Amino acid sequence: MRQYTYGPFNSRRLGLSLGVDILPKYKLCTFNCVYCEIGPTYQVVSPRDRIKAPPSSNYRKELKEILKFVPHLNSITFGYNGEPTLNDNLLDFFKITLDVRNELKWDKKPPLITLFTNSTTLYLEEIRNRVRHFDLVLAKLDAATNEDLRRTNRPHEDCPNIEIIVDSLIKLRKEMPEKKLAIQCLISKSYREDYISNNNKENIEQLAYVIKKINPNIVQLYSIARIPSEYYVFAIDEQRKKEIVKVFREIINNDLIEINYY
Ligand code: SF4
Repeated sequence: MRQYTYGPFNSRRLGLSLGVDILPKYKLCTFNCVYCEIGPTYQVVSPRDRIKAPPSSNYRKELKEILKFVPHLNSITFGYNGEPTLNDNLLDFFKITLDVRNELKWDKKPPLITLFTNSTTLYLEEIRNRVRHFDLVLAKLDAATNEDLRRTNRPHEDCPNIEIIVDSLIKLRKEMPEKKLAIQCLISKSYREDYISNNNKENIEQLAYVIKKINPNIVQLYSIARIPSEYYVFAIDEQRKKEIVKVFREIINNDLIEINYY
């Protein structure tokens, strides 16, 4: 039975990707995003509330057995059941993954070792020191105002405010010059008149200004693709994605930053 991996599956942003879940079998997250596609976070945890769950001897074996069948894989992707940096043994998993990747033969390039994070733990230097080893870090940033952060991501009260989150992403970018940082913005709309979604003018413009400061390699704009946690949010359409990308391009004004929408 597989304990840590799922897929591989085709991902719009990563190509053929093998998922790695290093969290317990329940959702462990510092956020309770309105749009979360794996359901509500019943107990939202503090970014300091971390677990120790080292890889069992099965991890190496499981990874090797699957990877030998997919020499064309594009990414080995950490994330799924919440926030992977909440596991203090993140680097132990990374090292085994790197070892296995180095031992196997690949069709073209070896797959990237990729990490999803919701960015709430990155203000801690010890966490950035782990995260910076990954080839590609996909860091969530759906909000650039504290009001939008509270409404969209519904963070634990110990989570840093938006200024600190942005500052930690600026630091991370500088600390991983040889690796790639992608900022992921999920923008949604709402059916409820009393709920202001993050698809508001101020949030979109402020997002562009903070992304400009973070100076990532890539910006990925996307929207809801599966059933969201809350019934009242839904996906923005293609036209709106294009408008937001236009605002981003104008304000960021830096051709070195790749801006894509999905
Ligand atoms: S950060 Fe990710 S896992 Fe956590 S609630 Fe938001 S979408 Fe879900």
